[in-house]
Amino acid sequence: MPISESMVQDIVQEVMAKMQIADAPAGKHGIFKDMNEAIEAAKASQKIVRKMSLDQREKIITCIRRKTKENAEILARMGVDETGMGNVGDKILKHHLVADKTPGTEDLSTTAWSGDRGLTLIEMGPFGVIGAITPCTNPSETILCNTIGMLAGGNTVVFNPHPAAIKTSIYAINLLNEASLESGGPDNIAVTVEKPTLETSNIMMKHKDIPLIAATGGPGVVTAVLSSGKRGIGAGAGNPPAVVDETADVRKAAQDIVNGCTFDNNLPCIAEKEIVAVASITDELMHYLVSENDCYLASKEEQDKLVETVLAGGKLNRKCVGRDARTLLSMIGVNAPANIRCIVFEGPKEHPLIATELMMPILGVVRAKDFDDAVEQAVWLEHGNRHSAHIHSKNIDNITKYAKAIDTAILVKNAPSYAALGFGGEGYCTFTIASRTGEGLTSASTFTKRRRCVMADSLCIR
Ligand code: NAD
Repeated sequence: MPISESMVQDIVQEVMAKMQIADAPAGKHGIFKDMNEAIEAAKASQKIVRKMSLDQREKIITCIRRKTKENAEILARMGVDETGMGNVGDKILKHHLVADKTPGTEDLSTTAWSGDRGLTLIEMGPFGVIGAITPCTNPSETILCNTIGMLAGGNTVVFNPHPAAIKTSIYAINLLNEASLESGGPDNIAVTVEKPTLETSNIMMKHKDIPLIAATGGPGVVTAVLSSGKRGIGAGAGNPPAVVDETADVRKAAQDIVNGCTFDNNLPCIAEKEIVAVASITDELMHYLVSENDCYLASKEEQDKLVETVLAGGKLNRKCVGRDARTLLSMIGVNAPANIRCIVFEGPKEHPLIATELMMPILGVVRAKDFDDAVEQAVWLEHGNRHSAHIHSKNIDNITKYAKAIDTAILVKNAPSYAALGFGGEGYCTFTIASRTGEGLTSASTFTKRRRCVMADSLCIR
């Protein structure tokens, strides 16, 4: 059989990739001691990525998707072991979601105007090397998802991951570079430092070769990035309320809310953090939460103990974040039955376990006298984060009123919150929801620059 030019190229690429893998120290792809060196390596790699065809970028992304699935359980276990947060089963699902539903190069679209004066296009081009800061709550999920989108856009990426999740983050970054090398791409499409600190973060944020920074985390990091003088994508904190009105299927609402709230022990920033229920259905809702959805009804005394434990000295106790309900109850001396998934109680919106973004399966229920009151209380509880909110209602006017008042990047109706990530709902997945800066659910196109390409007086063939 004659060997075609493309077959020769494939063989050459494969051999080159194997040589690069052999050259690199095992398990060290993309990992540097020094932040400046890491940035230089990502810069060199971006020069290669920039010249690659969309098809070549897509080949690497396909390999990242496959490796993410193959390593889903390892990454899930590493994440739980290292951070002590979340649960393995849900983290496996989250990695599959990243692999299956993070958009690739198909997300880059072209806008065109064609007419008597020629053809003008808006094309989406790369920024270059992007800086990314990632949380400990979804460490590898965010790194893998960010890299797929950023690479699809023609960029490479320098991560400053949360120090509490550095081993898991390094594993994910190794995996990304192995996928690139195996697919004929360069090493260092994603890089980081062995020991990320605020200092390495500052070096990255101030570096002249980093034009864009994507921050996924709490309010502190988003403010730091937005003060850096660089363009910033700020995916910040939330405290999503779930409103239930008198037209809702209350039984299903209880089930959906508990499923969303307990997913990965409430770590996702989009997860239901409290309920605001219209008074006429509040008792019915409480009944379904406790009798059908494995919720533990905390007494006043237990709530007080939880406040002392979870918000010790008024500060969020990181040892409680992402723990399951039974562990949290055991911390206050309650030995709960094995089926318990969530802790519930009724309280005012100002209750510290309700007003604070806890990221643990504790669901306070606020009683509202009517729908307007429910909207007002939910808007207060969202704290102007403009992040996520949820509603269970069959009244379109109510849903519309709530959507306009709360003005969040995500609003899920009549489903668990994770439907917003494409899990049991339509649409793509992301783990970086740019709430503060308004891009909403990020994808490849978010990580590109718009460029106008103008051809005057030609190429209009209409
Ligand atoms: P965190 O804010 O403690 O840390 C996030 C990242 O920011 C880490 O890498 C940390 O090292 C870094 N960081 C923190 N302060 C910084 C500063 N001043 N300068 C530079 N870097 C800084 O958050 P976390 O506990 O890892 O994650 C949970 C938080 O992130 C929650 O508030 C959650 O809502 C939010 N979150 C938001 C999204 C989103 O898409 N909007 C996604 C996941 C998590």
